[in-house]
Amino acid sequence: MYDYDLLVIGSGPGGQKAAIAAAKLGKRVAVAERRHMMGGVCVNTGTIPSKTLREAVLYLTGFAQRDMYGASYRVKSDITIADLLARTSHVVGREVEIIRNQLMRNHVDLLGGTARFVDEHTVTVQGEVRGDHNTVTAANVVIATGTRPARPPQVEFDDDHVMDSDGVLDMQRVPGSLVVVGAGVIGIEYASMFAALGTRVTVVERHPQMLTFCDPEVVESLKFHLRDQAVTFRFGEEVEKVEITAKGTVTSLASGKRIAADMVMYSAGRQGVTDELDLEKAGLSADERGRITVDEQYRTSVPHIFAVGDVIGFPALAATSMDQGRLAAYHAFDEPVRELQELQPIGIYTVPEISYCGKTEEELTSGSVPYEVGISRYRELARGAIVGDSYGMLKLLVSTEDRTLLGVHVFGSGATDLVHIGQAIMGCGGTVDYLVDTVLNYPTLSEAYKVAALDVTNKIRALEAFSG
Ligand SMILES: Cc1cc2nc3c(=O)[nH]c(=O)nc-3n(C[C@H](O)[C@H](O)[C@H](O)COP(=O)(O)OP(=O)(O)OC[C@H]3O[C@@H](n4cnc5c(N)ncnc54)[C@H](O)[C@@H]3O)c2cc1C
Repeated sequence: MYDYDLLVIGSGPGGQKAAIAAAKLGKRVAVAERRHMMGGVCVNTGTIPSKTLREAVLYLTGFAQRDMYGASYRVKSDITIADLLARTSHVVGREVEIIRNQLMRNHVDLLGGTARFVDEHTVTVQGEVRGDHNTVTAANVVIATGTRPARPPQVEFDDDHVMDSDGVLDMQRVPGSLVVVGAGVIGIEYASMFAALGTRVTVVERHPQMLTFCDPEVVESLKFHLRDQAVTFRFGEEVEKVEITAKGTVTSLASGKRIAADMVMYSAGRQGVTDELDLEKAGLSADERGRITVDEQYRTSVPHIFAVGDVIGFPALAATSMDQGRLAAYHAFDEPVRELQELQPIGIYTVPEISYCGKTEEELTSGSVPYEVGISRYRELARGAIVGDSYGMLKLLVSTEDRTLLGVHVFGSGATDLVHIGQAIMGCGGTVDYLVDTVLNYPTLSEAYKVAALDVTNKIRALEAFSG
């Protein structure tokens, strides 16, 4: 008889949802987590603090209101790091409490410390102080240990001038100038937040483009906006070294360019947190990036050990990790489940934000799928004028063969929420006619769907008329 039916290692979105799902099935469940990290990377250093920081930046800078009240509009003129982080620590504290409470209500035991395998059914959880350790056995284990920022060995991180994305939350001051290395989602989100704060940002990216999985027109709009806020892009450039000087930092690029800035933030990928697990004692291993391989049921090569969330790699989102955790728990106990819908949204919380679902124009073109595009610009919507968003746009990609919705791409206010309307229609196999025939609240940003639907159906009608 094991101590638990399920032991979960890590309390991020994947671990939490695995634990709750198993508890709801009436199983005996424990979660192992370091005491200061309840809620995982998601709540402590990732999704929640970064999105709260973004909200604080938008509010305090008055950024979203500048279309209305002019470029010099500010809610607070001298924004300090304390102003920004006060909101973050309030929200993080609240979220941690909610998660702890939810686990306790569902009778999930919390084991504080770092978990290591002793064998494939036994795990030791070592707390921060000597003597604080537990050894427990479990019939099933879910590994949900997430990732940490990767730090290139040639760069000296002092966490004051040179930091990774975790370091942003411990910044001592708002930098006047900042180099962001890596134009992935995390890098570009932070670059846009600091640009909105008035920091002079330089983004260095070794690839010739950024966010290549998104609609190129949307990415162009974002780049235009960021350049307008004094962001400089250095694409196709490699960082050779970063020096910390008396006044700040100097970043040297392989091309010979040198960039002076108060601070440097590295956002150069993430590494799976598996080094402390002693995986080999459970008969498991990780790849060179610390990732664990699983099958479609999130089962590792040891059938009663599952892995979910960022530690299994793509897409490495809180949104997906939650569902992976829930499904892994159901599979562990042979509970019948439906698999996740293939259609999943992508949300990028830059300023302005981006979201999409379904195919891009490039994918449709390379797959020889005939489509037509419908576009709505926020500046033509009453709600766009009311909220002061003149740059936003929504783009629908519609099949010219059967009028189904193939993709929706949104840029601007509310993008990450608005995308779900298109996702729901696509998920149900709906056509653009649903949007044409549906009355939507007015004035709303959702009206963008109606305008884009009329735009694309008019184009398809013209095509049919011209084709005779
Ligand atoms: C800056 C940033 C912004 C992001 N923004 C978004 C966003 O807007 N939307 C989105 O969907 N996703 C976002 N993400 C990604 C999201 O945070 C992750 O996908 C999500 O947190 C992964 O969840 P997880 O379940 O894998 O666990 P994680 O949240 O990674 O947590 C893993 C936990 O496991 C614990 N752990 C590790 N090893 C052990 C061990 N041996 N013993 C005990 N505990 C251990 C760690 O302490 C940690 O608390 C962002 C990430 C970052 C870094």
